[in-house]
Amino acid sequence: MLTVSSSKMALPDALTENGLPSAESVLVYTSEYDIISADASDMILSSSGAVDIGGTTYESVVGLILNPPEATIQDAYSLTRGYLEAGEQVLFLYLDGFGYDKWLSALNRGIVPNLAQLTVEQAADAYPTITPVNYAAMVTGKTPYVNGIKQRSDHTLACPSIFDYTEANNLSTIIIEGDKQIINFAIEQQLHPDYNDDGDTDNEVFATALQAVTDGSYDLVFVHFHGIDDSEHTNGPQTDQVFDKIASEDLMVGQLLAIWQGRVVVVSDHGQHLSKEEDDDRSGVHGTFCADDIFVPLMYR
Ligand SMILES: [Zn+2]
Repeated sequence: MLTVSSSKMALPDALTENGLPSAESVLVYTSEYDIISADASDMILSSSGAVDIGGTTYESVVGLILNPPEATIQDAYSLTRGYLEAGEQVLFLYLDGFGYDKWLSALNRGIVPNLAQLTVEQAADAYPTITPVNYAAMVTGKTPYVNGIKQRSDHTLACPSIFDYTEANNLSTIIIEGDKQIINFAIEQQLHPDYNDDGDTDNEVFATALQAVTDGSYDLVFVHFHGIDDSEHTNGPQTDQVFDKIASEDLMVGQLLAIWQGRVVVVSDHGQHLSKEEDDDRSGVHGTFCADDIFVPLMYR
């Protein structure tokens, strides 16, 4: 069973409440935006909240994931890079706001038959659980400490991305984005305003993605769907509207997979949880250190 500690919880309490003595492994999220994987038995906690792992001391820790899943969002990069190095074409589908809990609910409802064809793993996010931070982690394979994207106002990477790799190796690449550029990359991004004014950019992004996979000449087709995230923010994370949007994206994924002959990597950047700031506020939010936000599906074929 997976346990996540709250960022607001004092660490010694978190350890006691979460039963760390029985944990085998831990992901430690440092206040320097690094993520350290450790055996629980190698970890020593001081009363100040500092954590010592194998002789290295981290003075301040944001949170811990006890017995974390094996995969992290950075693995989306490793998978993609490995396929490209093997000479395979990759369709990379980034479904914004599609947390792991949402994936399981959608699976139970039987509304994701196309995504269900893929191999699926649970993956741990980088922190904070916001779009640019995890966008950067999935395209660089590095933590925010290394890739330099730590908050919404950061747009320039401090390390190479998968797009630098394709550029350096003359692999043809298309980046299909929503209505704005979130992170600066070496190659141009195709932006898609909500032309039909239906509340999100999924139709517009899908039209270009369909052209790109039909064309078939790209080594890397990178597609960022925003519809699930937009719907959760507007309607709340567990609403019929959100599951309708998930079903809609699954249909789009199905149409792309039916044409695409190469490898496929699907990942999300974060989940969402219900806002509790006001009782009547049913909108979805994310960015915190909680299970709904921090676990995402990593899928591949
Ligand atoms: Zn996002």
